[in-house]
Amino acid sequence: MKVLKFGGTSVANADAISQLKNIVASLNSTELIIVVSALGGVTDRLEEALALASTKQEGYKDILEALEERHIELTRQLYPVKEQGGILARLKGEFNTLETLLEGSYLIGEETPRLHDLVTGYGELLSSELIAGYLVSQGLKAHWADSRQLIKTNDQFGRARVHKKETYAKLQAFAKEQKGNILLAPGFIASCDRGDTTTLGRGGSDYTAALWAAAVGAEELQIWTDVSGMYTSHPALVKQAKSIAQLSYEEAMELSHFGAKVLYPPTIWPVLEKGCPIRIKNTFAPEDAGTLIQAADNPDAKTVRGISHIQGISLLTLEGPDMVGIPGVSKRFFEALGQADVNVVLITQASSEHSICVGLMSEQLSQAKQAVKTEFEREIETGRLKELLIETELAVVALVGDNLKSHQGVSGRMFSALGKNNVNIHAIAQGGSERNISAVIAEKDVKKALNTLHETFFEVQTRQLNLFILGVGNVGARFLKQVEQQQEYLRENLRLQLRIIGLSNSRTMVFDEEGIALSDWEQRLADGQKANINGFKEQLQSLNLRNSILVDNTASEAIARQYPDFLKRNVAVVTCNKIACSSELEYYTELKGLSSRYLSPFLFETNVGAGLPIIDTLRNLIISGDKVRKIQAVLSGSLNFVFNTFQEGDSFQAIVEEAKNQALPSRIHELIYPGSM
Ligand code: ADP
Ligand code: ASP
Ligand code: MG
Repeated sequence: MKVLKFGGTSVANADAISQLKNIVASLNSTELIIVVSALGGVTDRLEEALALASTKQEGYKDILEALEERHIELTRQLYPVKEQGGILARLKGEFNTLETLLEGSYLIGEETPRLHDLVTGYGELLSSELIAGYLVSQGLKAHWADSRQLIKTNDQFGRARVHKKETYAKLQAFAKEQKGNILLAPGFIASCDRGDTTTLGRGGSDYTAALWAAAVGAEELQIWTDVSGMYTSHPALVKQAKSIAQLSYEEAMELSHFGAKVLYPPTIWPVLEKGCPIRIKNTFAPEDAGTLIQAADNPDAKTVRGISHIQGISLLTLEGPDMVGIPGVSKRFFEALGQADVNVVLITQASSEHSICVGLMSEQLSQAKQAVKTEFEREIETGRLKELLIETELAVVALVGDNLKSHQGVSGRMFSALGKNNVNIHAIAQGGSERNISAVIAEKDVKKALNTLHETFFEVQTRQLNLFILGVGNVGARFLKQVEQQQEYLRENLRLQLRIIGLSNSRTMVFDEEGIALSDWEQRLADGQKANINGFKEQLQSLNLRNSILVDNTASEAIARQYPDFLKRNVAVVTCNKIACSSELEYYTELKGLSSRYLSPFLFETNVGAGLPIIDTLRNLIISGDKVRKIQAVLSGSLNFVFNTFQEGDSFQAIVEEAKNQALPSRIHELIYPGSM
C-alpha cells in the first residue's frame, strides 16, 4: 500500500489535476490512498470570506461566487460533458450550505472557532469530491472517503489533536472494506466526538496522509508538491538551493519545524513510529528524484544539511537584578506561557541568570505579554523585575543537521559569516538535540542571511560578488568591458562570480537584483531612473545583498565623501577616484580606520604613476617582511617624457605639446611594460 498526498498547487487547476491522474495511473495499482488539499489558495479565500462575513462586510459574497465559479469551471474542463451533471449538483449543494453558514455569521456578526473549522474545511471537501469523480471518469477505480468520519479528534478547533487509536482502527477498517478501490480522501479535516468538523492546522493535509500511512502500514508516504524535494534552503529566497537526496526523520522534522513549508512537522510522528519512509516529489517534474526521508544513520553526510528560517518572530525578555533570588522564575514564566497557549519557538537564558528570553510568533505576542505580566505583577511593581523587554520584526535562521554535534567550529563559521555581512544577531540558541543552531536576526536581513549561510556551507566553491558601480565614462566603461571579458576566467580560476547589481552615471541609475547583463547595460542605464547618490545608497541598502562592493569610477568629490557610509555598512569600496586618498590626511585615515573596524575592504591604487600597481606591490612587500626605507620615483609622467626626449636643438614648447598629445599615462605604462597596451 502507498499513500500519496497532493498539495494545493498540485491540484490548483485542470493541468495539475490531470497530472495527478497520470501519476496515479502510472502506478498501475489499486493499493493506493490519495489525500488531497483544497485547490491552491482556497483555504485562504475561505478564511477571508469568514472574516468579512463575521464583521458584517458583504464582500464575502464575491469571494464565495468566485470560488463557486472556479470549481464549476474546473469541472467543465475535466469531466466529459455527459458526466458533469452529477458532480455539478453535488458541488452546488456544498456551496449552498457554505453560503448559509456565511450568511449566518454575517447576520450574527460573529466567528467562532467551531464555525471557522467548518467553513475552512470546505476547501478539501470540494476538491476531494471533484477529483474523486474525475478519476472515476478517467476509468480509475476510485472511491471517495470522508475523512470526517474516519479521523477523530478532540475539539481544539484550528489545530485539533487526533485520537490515535480510534482513528487508526477506523482507517484500517475502511481500507479493508474498500479493498480493490483506490481511496481518495480530503486532507486537513476531521471531526470531534460531537461530530463537528475540526481541522488539523494549516498545512495539515500532510498529517492526514501520514495518519493513513501509519494506520494501514504503508510501504511509503509520498508528498507530491510543487518543488522537487526538501531543499537546502527556501528555494524562493536562495537561488542556489538544491534538493537534498536523503534526510533522517529528525533532520526533516527540524527543518520543517523551523519553517520549511514542504512538510508539516506533526506529519513525521505517525510515520516515524512505524518506520514508513516519506518521499517528497514534484507533481510537475515526476522524473526528479525528490527527497527520501527515513530512519537512517548517515555518519558520512555533510554536517549542515539544510538552512531553515521562520519569519514573524518576537523576542520577549524577562530580566531583573534580583532574578536569581526569586524562586521558580523559569517555571512560573513557562507555565504562564503554556497556560496562555503560547507556542515557544526558541529559548535562551544567559548563564548569569539575570534574564530569560523566549522567541515566539508575533501573533501570539500580546497574549504572551499579558500572561507573563499577570504572573509577575508583584515583582514588576516592586522593581525586583524590570518591565518586559519586547523586540519585534525578527526572524530565526537555523542550521540543521544530525552531525552538528560532532563538529566543532560550525557556529563560529555561522556567526562570523553573518557578522561579515552586517547581519546583527539578537539571540542565539542551540537545540538540546544539537541538531540545530539558531540565530535570531532582523526580518529584513533574512534573505541576505540565508544566502550568506548557504554560500558558506553549501557553495564554498564560488563566491558571489555584488557590484554597485558609479561612473561609466572612459574608465567606467572600460572597467565594465574588463569585467565582461574576465567573468569566465574569474569563475573558473578564482571561483568568483561577479554580478553588476547597480549602475549609475550622473544622469540615470539602474538596479537589478538578478544582475545587469553586460551585453546591454548602456540601454538599461539609459532607461533607468533619475540618478542621485542618496537614492543609490538607499537602493544598495534596501537590496541588502551579501558581499556588496561599491566601485567608484567617477572623479566626483561628492561621491568620495560618501565612502564612510558604505564602509560602515560592510560594503567594500573600490575606487579609482583620486579625491578620497589625496585630500586631507584625516579623511584618508578615517577611511582606513573604518575599513579595518568594519572589516570592509577599501581598495585603491596610487594617484600618481598612472595607476601602476604601486600600492599593491608595497603592501605585498610589507606583508612579506620587507621594510620600506625609501621610495624613489619620478612622479610626473609629463616631466619624465620631456627630460627623456629633450635634445639639443629641440624646441621646448614642441616637446611639451607632444607630451600633452601622447596621452602620457599609457605611454609610460608601455615604457615599463612593453607591448602590454
Ligand atoms: P503544498 O501546497 O504542496 O503542501 P507547500 O506550499 O505547503 O506545498 O510547501 C511547498 C513550498 O514550500 C515550496 O513551494 C517552497 O516555496 C516552500 N519551501 C520553504 N522551504 C523549503 C525548503 N527548504 N525546501 C523546499 N521547499 C521549501
Ligand atoms: N488546505 C489547508 C491549508 O491550506 C491544508 C493543506 O493544504 O495542507 O492549510
Ligand atoms: Mg503544505
